[in-house]
Amino acid sequence: MSLFDKYAPLQARVDVMMKIGKDALGVQFDDIISTTRGRIGNREILLAGTNNYLGLTFDEDCMSAAKNAVDNHGTGTTGSRIANGTYSEHIDLEKALADHLGMPSCIVFTTGYQTNLSAISGLAGDKDVVFMDADAHACIIDGTRLTGASTIRFRHNNPEDLDKRLRRQGEIEGGNALVVIEGLYSMFGDVAPIDEFVDVTHRHGGYLFIDEAHSYGVFGPTGCGLAEEQGVLDKVDFISGTFSKSLASVGGFCASRHPEFEILRKVMRPYMFTASATPANICAALAAVEKVKHGADLRANLKVRSEQLHKGLSDMQYDLCAEASPVIAVRRPNEAVAAMEWNALIEDGVYVNLAVPPGTPQSSSLLRISLSAAHTEEDINIILKAFNDLKDKQGSLMAEMGAKLQA
Ligand code: PMP
Repeated sequence: MSLFDKYAPLQARVDVMMKIGKDALGVQFDDIISTTRGRIGNREILLAGTNNYLGLTFDEDCMSAAKNAVDNHGTGTTGSRIANGTYSEHIDLEKALADHLGMPSCIVFTTGYQTNLSAISGLAGDKDVVFMDADAHACIIDGTRLTGASTIRFRHNNPEDLDKRLRRQGEIEGGNALVVIEGLYSMFGDVAPIDEFVDVTHRHGGYLFIDEAHSYGVFGPTGCGLAEEQGVLDKVDFISGTFSKSLASVGGFCASRHPEFEILRKVMRPYMFTASATPANICAALAAVEKVKHGADLRANLKVRSEQLHKGLSDMQYDLCAEASPVIAVRRPNEAVAAMEWNALIEDGVYVNLAVPPGTPQSSSLLRISLSAAHTEEDINIILKAFNDLKDKQGSLMAEMGAKLQA
């Protein structure tokens, strides 16, 4: 029995994918030409799966902020936030985000994953109970695994189910309820009824934590996210987010309306025992926060493009997982078909994400598209044409897949 035998079923799935075409979970871009174009081999590819919601990766101000940061403070911090890794840039960014969200405290982290790992594991102690949405992202689940808190899952986007479970739980002796949800869900692209979750959570005396990784920058009059859009930002206890999507950098943040949140800097193990974000990442994110605040036009374009794509795919009778949003997921019958079509889309010059279990809700196999404010009407037409071609080629694609799997 080898150390790797337990992965035999997974290896079998990978083998099927490789027979069908490329390794969709390890695709290499040979060049990134612009916000919306890349190159794989000799083929130019329209990028439609990058979470680059505001299209800021090539923004002049964000790029020069990153270049200046390297010139001024070097390539890396070589230490954690609690040792030598806190520079004035980290503090400036924390202040800018706290100010933007209207909260007294904000902590910046090295990645979004580490943000939720740190904040959730720091907030929930042995006697607390974490209530989390059934479709919670891996970093929320992993954050609770680092605590002694018990965990209760409630039905996805269902405040009534949360209400029932909080009622059933009753008084938590010596502890509190921490409810964790997301704003825009990354796989299906559906949005949470945050206002209802605020009501239910606070009625039971709990704290509400929202991961706005996919919604910060994208929703709300000033881009603070879905809580702002739904008019309840000031009632949310904790908001986390990432720099790796609308902020076009790498890193993450968690802000709170409770000033006591600051003490967590001294307890969160994933914050204390890893290196802080590089000056370039932090300064690019700081420049991007300014773009978010004044990004109403970008958000408006993103909304128009999302509606254009959603309508076009619906008209073609594709099975879409949610209403129009910058994440549009097309449900496919199984993993092999989705992989075959993913390869065909690449051949046609369009990159989307292949999303498969266990990373997807309801064990679904998805062609997941994420749009950018930088996409033009013509770009959306190119994506739609590629999906239309998939329909036209369905018979021959399935025959080709059958032959490849038998070979
Ligand atoms: N939360 C959610 C909902 C996410 O989808 C992701 C990443 N896809 C993260 C957190 C982690 O963000 P990062 O990539 O910055 O680590």
